[in-house]
Amino acid sequence: MSVTVRAPAKINLHLGVGAKREDGYHPLDTVYLAVSLYDDVTVSTSAVWSVDVSPIGDVDVSGVPLDDSNIVVKAGRLLTAHHGIERAAAIGISKGIPVAGGMAGGSADAAATLVALDRLWDLQTSDDDLLAIAAQLGSDVPFSLLGGTAHGTGRGELVEQVPDAGTWWWVVVPNDEGLSTSAVYRAFDALPTPAAVGSGAVLAALAGGDLDALADALHNDLEAPALELRPALRETADDLVGSGVRARLLSGSGPTYLGLVADQDSAHHIREALLDQGYERVVVATGPVAGVHLVDYA
Ligand code: ATP
Repeated sequence: MSVTVRAPAKINLHLGVGAKREDGYHPLDTVYLAVSLYDDVTVSTSAVWSVDVSPIGDVDVSGVPLDDSNIVVKAGRLLTAHHGIERAAAIGISKGIPVAGGMAGGSADAAATLVALDRLWDLQTSDDDLLAIAAQLGSDVPFSLLGGTAHGTGRGELVEQVPDAGTWWWVVVPNDEGLSTSAVYRAFDALPTPAAVGSGAVLAALAGGDLDALADALHNDLEAPALELRPALRETADDLVGSGVRARLLSGSGPTYLGLVADQDSAHHIREALLDQGYERVVVATGPVAGVHLVDYA
């Protein structure tokens, strides 16, 4: 028997980062949007834990570990420990979310694994317990469960759905070389803490479905440290602006850059122009989309 669950990528429409807390985490005021790039996770019962990864399209999966350090095995172990059972599973990941791209691909896989194993073994874990286990796995994992549009606080793990009247279209420009989230946070720590910008303007733009207001409000405190670590990214940022997007945004800790556009046609038009300009991979995505959901049960 096997179960397949789909999980979306996330972007942060607002990412406000405070000074490092005593526990080593940074307090976040963030607005998450789930977008239409997906990983599919298939689980089946096995005597031992195993991980297999295959790309969707031309996603480079070489950076994904196949041993116990893969976050999906951690997710499986936490779930079995929570229920006090001894079981293992073979976990297959089909990856459409760029690896180490600041789009929470690993977090999506972890969230999908929790839901898939819960279903495979009929564990009937409550939503509250799933969210608590997700938070132990990583700050972005609870949002991957939830999907849609949400406000995140704490270290990002406290999520609450927010009103969103829009359907937002994005041109997504992944980068060949991933950026380590912890390295970007270290670079953030080395810079003066930026003046706090609240998420209110983004939340208001979403509630009103106002594209111009959203374009003005997009904000990411990790852009400055990411550009410091990878100055060449500025060229991508400038090319996006030159391509006619309404606004550009670094996705999470990067290096993926995003361009907000008016509609699907503009997204495809700008994608073509960027490909002509020499970019090898440019993807169109929309959001909000659903969080983890079952796609196959066999
Ligand atoms: P975030 O935005 O949550 O910081 P990210 O999207 O930048 O994350 P991921 O794709 O989640 O980055 O991968 C970060 C690192 O985690 C990878 O370089 C890889 O070594 C490790 N990793 C462990 N499990 C996975 C997984 N299932 N998928 C991708 N990477 C994984």
